[in-house]
Amino acid sequence: MRVAGAGMAGLCAAARARELGLEPTVLEKGDRPGGSMLLSSGVVWRYRSLEEFRRQCPNGDPRLQRMIVERLDGALEWLESLGAPLVRAETENPRTTGRRFDPRGLTEALIRAAGEVQTEHALVPDPGTRPEEPLVLATGGFPVRLARELGLAIRSNAWSEGNGLAFGLSRGADTTAGMDEFYGRAMPAAPAKWGEDEFVDHAQLYGQLARVFDESGEEIAVDADDWSENGLVQEIARRGGKAWYVVDPDDLQHETPYGTIAHAIDRARSAGGSVEKRDDGSVAVHVVAAVTHTIGGLVIDEKTRVLARGGTPIEGLYAAGVDAGGWSTGGYASGLAAALVFGLAAAEEIAS
Ligand SMILES: Cc1cc2nc3c(=O)[nH]c(=O)nc-3n(C[C@H](O)[C@H](O)[C@H](O)COP(=O)(O)OP(=O)(O)OC[C@H]3O[C@@H](n4cnc5c(N)ncnc54)[C@H](O)[C@@H]3O)c2cc1C
Repeated sequence: MRVAGAGMAGLCAAARARELGLEPTVLEKGDRPGGSMLLSSGVVWRYRSLEEFRRQCPNGDPRLQRMIVERLDGALEWLESLGAPLVRAETENPRTTGRRFDPRGLTEALIRAAGEVQTEHALVPDPGTRPEEPLVLATGGFPVRLARELGLAIRSNAWSEGNGLAFGLSRGADTTAGMDEFYGRAMPAAPAKWGEDEFVDHAQLYGQLARVFDESGEEIAVDADDWSENGLVQEIARRGGKAWYVVDPDDLQHETPYGTIAHAIDRARSAGGSVEKRDDGSVAVHVVAAVTHTIGGLVIDEKTRVLARGGTPIEGLYAAGVDAGGWSTGGYASGLAAALVFGLAAAEEIAS
């Protein structure tokens, strides 16, 4: 069994495969394992019910959504059994349930369990021959490519450019709806500079408490139900990619998931971003939509088998994590949870 990508999905697939007696080979394009998982906040979560998942991600595949709802809790216990260090046994979000792990400790625990990872060793385009052994595509979707195409900022690992998707397409794979959808955050716009260590801290996650204007000065309506602000970020992307968040002075001390709004604005300022104090006392921050992961991808079934157009499984080809599309179309859900559940499912299917 081969695994392409040593992020959450690939490492989970390899670790579970080893438990089941297989000897997986893990290829990693980057110079380190961990993918975007290592850069993440480490919250592995699901909606509390399938009904809520359907409401939040109405265009997603209900079969995959059901898999995540039904299997995540057991998968989290498995993750803890590997020694992945817990930060919190809950998500602090009433809509969701899950666990928060320390991302570095989580990555290290998975690497220990997955065995050797061949870094700087990318899956290469398919020469057209049939695979001699099963292959799990876990290359993290195509956030880097989508951000470049749409002129947005990148907020993911630097290597997920769609190689798994291209490989699947070369084998005749089908793709899901929502190939232009993504999960992302508003980040301080250039001339602000921020690196991957600042992806979490520099996020400007207070659009719900701001008035938001596009570059032409037109106000963007903020949907009160858009708790993750992912809908807002995608709307900013559709309007050219940049916007101004204008905050009333009375709201500056309001808490966001990562400190007060005033703190988030300080971080934008310290990164060199444009922060303007207006005559009425409000503060305006220039933001850019940044892509964390793609939402569309390869069509898979409940066994994580990649499906060709017409719905037939492609022999020996599996996809997990965000290489698989269709579990959060039309909304937002946990990429780490999809990586964990589909990674385990791929290994179990191949071992069966
Ligand atoms: C700042 C930040 C915060 C986040 N916070 C959360 C959170 O709290 N909760 C949550 O659920 N999600 C969060 N996410 C999203 C989450 O990290 C991703 O959804 C998740 O890591 C996806 O897992 P994956 O295994 O599919 O992809 P990745 O973890 O991105 O791994 C893909 C791997 O494949 C490698 N690769 C690419 N191309 C090739 C190739 N050709 N050959 C071999 N290897 C290749 C890449 O280098 C990478 O290592 C966050 C992401 C970021 C960046």
